[in-house]
Amino acid sequence: MSKKYFEKENGNWVRDDLNGKQKEFCMCWDCSKFKPELENKGCSIIAEVLNLAAQKEIVLPVWECNNFSAKK
Ligand code: SF4
Repeated sequence: MSKKYFEKENGNWVRDDLNGKQKEFCMCWDCSKFKPELENKGCSIIAEVLNLAAQKEIVLPVWECNNFSAKK
C-alpha cells in the first residue's frame, strides 16, 4: 500500500488518510484520567506530550500507555 501525504495550509505534512483523525486514534479520549478542560489535562504524561506538540508544531496521538484507565 502506498501512503500519500499532502502539505496543509499551516505547512505541516500529514498522511492523507489520517488527516484530522488524531482524536479518533488517541487513546487518551477513552481514558478516565484525561481531563482536557484542565490546564494540567489531569495527566502529566499527556500534558507533556501536548506541550511538546505545541512547541514543535506537530500532532502526537497516544497509541499505547501503561497508565491507561478505561472510562466506565
Ligand atoms: S494515562 Fe495515558 S492514556 Fe490516560 S490520559 Fe494519560 S497519557 Fe493518556
